[in-house]
Amino acid sequence: MSRVHLVNPSTTSFGVAVITPRWLYVLAAATGSRWGDPRIVDETLEALDISTIEPGDVVGIGIHTGNARRGYEIGREVRRRGAWVVFGGIHATLFPDEAVEHGRAHAVVRGDGDVIWSRVVEDCLSGQPNAVYEGGRVAGDQFMSARWDLLPNGRYMWASVQTVRGCPKHCSFCSVWRTDGQEPRQRGVDRVIREIVELRRLGFRFIALADDNFYPVTFGDLAQAKRRADGSRLHELEALRAERFALMAQLAELPDDLVFYTQITMEAAEDPAFLRAMRRAKIRGALVGVESVTAAGLKDVYKGFNLSGDELVTRLRAFRRHDIHVLGSFIFGLPSDTKDTFNATVALAERADLTFAQFVLLTPFPGTVDFEKWAADEKGRGRLVDGVPLTQHWLIPEDRRPRLYTAHPTMSLEEIRLGTQRAWDRFYSWRHVWTRSRVVESIRARIAFVLISKLYRQMYANTGIATDSARVQRSARWARWIGYACRRLFLGKPMPDLAIPGEQLEPTFN
Ligand code: SF4
Repeated sequence: MSRVHLVNPSTTSFGVAVITPRWLYVLAAATGSRWGDPRIVDETLEALDISTIEPGDVVGIGIHTGNARRGYEIGREVRRRGAWVVFGGIHATLFPDEAVEHGRAHAVVRGDGDVIWSRVVEDCLSGQPNAVYEGGRVAGDQFMSARWDLLPNGRYMWASVQTVRGCPKHCSFCSVWRTDGQEPRQRGVDRVIREIVELRRLGFRFIALADDNFYPVTFGDLAQAKRRADGSRLHELEALRAERFALMAQLAELPDDLVFYTQITMEAAEDPAFLRAMRRAKIRGALVGVESVTAAGLKDVYKGFNLSGDELVTRLRAFRRHDIHVLGSFIFGLPSDTKDTFNATVALAERADLTFAQFVLLTPFPGTVDFEKWAADEKGRGRLVDGVPLTQHWLIPEDRRPRLYTAHPTMSLEEIRLGTQRAWDRFYSWRHVWTRSRVVESIRARIAFVLISKLYRQMYANTGIATDSARVQRSARWARWIGYACRRLFLGKPMPDLAIPGEQLEPTFN
């Protein structure tokens, strides 16, 4: 009988991974049971064994820009073996024709796969897939719960659950607001809680709330809606906000050893009631897109709603005052950056009590406003690398791919790359990491903190910025080693009898 395979492509396999790629387990649920359980392959753990693909199987490959090239390679290989090749994910949504040309796709799913996926599988297995399926943006009550029973044992440190899709902002380097939309689509509280309880039963204590923006309604949005003569928008926003609080109240009822982490705009710090509710809900960490520490840098990325300078420090510290640890994300290579920006950014990250930080290079990703502007200019120049136009940089072999694409008014690209590398080196130096590890109490927890900081740095900094392939390989080996050492720290004792708050656990007879 033909089987369904779901593949998350990656050129680097670490053996263990930090966060479960949620989409794999959601599409596994969406596949249904008619064709048996799908076979899930996450190449961040280990590479696909091509011999497992039989003629007539259906292979779903999910791609974003970063792993599109590896995804296309898999598509070509599995098609040679006579399987049905289907691409989905944000990159395939943007470039369905490219998935056909480079990945030999029989079909491409655009948008959300939750509802449409089972039809795609059925059409493939009856030999008549459409070239394109429009999955669209499904409503919050149609988001699928994931098939967590298919997870391999002990390979992931964090599980992931989604509570809201879409973000009302419009940052120039981000494609989320264009692909997932600006209208937040919230998932019912009961369904979110049910999934989290299922994960805790399995032994997961650390759960990422994999949302585009956990704070989708700001005070500014409410004030603007209040000024409208028609009150319907205000009601909608108030309902969205009330649902966030209802979700957090339910999370607060779950076992105390759970730890949640989410992504949020720094505006949440304006709202002490929200921060207190987050803390009660055990949301102990948040990725905050700080992007730049200067007003000019924020203007560069259309993120005027962020603060800069001392006000920024105060705002970020508000999270820490509420015992919420911030992973601050910064972009280097903005037109207004200077040679002083690197040190100034690290100094601010330290002053603002950030627990973790990431420093990324400005990259024009498809689907963003930045990409459109850059690609329009770049087309005129017509530069090629290995015969591939720079405007399709994701198709260039990884070791030949430039690390930066936009000429800078005052710095060379190499200066920006080295400045970024130095920022990682300084923020994650042994001394600084050990000092920051004071956020936890016991020596064991401090050692865990140090290992996790180093792991984060090895996985994301050295493999992403380095141009030297020996360094990349060494980092991957280190990350694998630390990953194995760390993973046990994250797992809890399974709680198979954990009840859903407000519900009685069904009796089992065995
Ligand atoms: S960067 Fe964050 S805040 Fe900006 S549009 Fe993307 S998800 Fe929204």
